[in-house]
Amino acid sequence: MEFDFQSNDMTEPCFLADAMLGKLTRYLRILGYSAEYTQEEDSKIVQRFKKSRCIILTRDKFLCQRLPRNCVYVNSIDVKNQLIELKLKTGIRYELPITPKRCSLCNAPLRRIGVMGDREVWVCTKCGQPYWRGSHIRRIENVIREINMMFGE
Ligand SMILES: [Zn+2]
Repeated sequence: MEFDFQSNDMTEPCFLADAMLGKLTRYLRILGYSAEYTQEEDSKIVQRFKKSRCIILTRDKFLCQRLPRNCVYVNSIDVKNQLIELKLKTGIRYELPITPKRCSLCNAPLRRIGVMGDREVWVCTKCGQPYWRGSHIRRIENVIREINMMFGE
């Protein structure tokens, strides 16, 4: 399957994942991509996936085969390997935004609220979760850097 991230409707790809891929979904949000995941039952998921314009991510190979397009079957268990698999299958680029863009909990955009002490702080426009650059994001940065090095990026 081909994924053309350069064409018009894929310049800002969005993702819709099944409930098995919650952690991958959070990583994609931190990378700035819109990523939702659904915990609906199978019969409803297929309908929702069929209607979605987003790239579908699932650990269910058979579900992928039932969808006409834009479905990525993710075989790996841990999130780093899942990110590598997704990159191999779609050619997606991973680049951490200079400032955080999306809430990793709910996918809504963040708004900068100012500086507290020596930290810049952002807050989720939907759920109110505060964000700043801490050790958590540095671990994720390291994972992304390792993956990009593997691909010579
Ligand atoms: Zn939120």
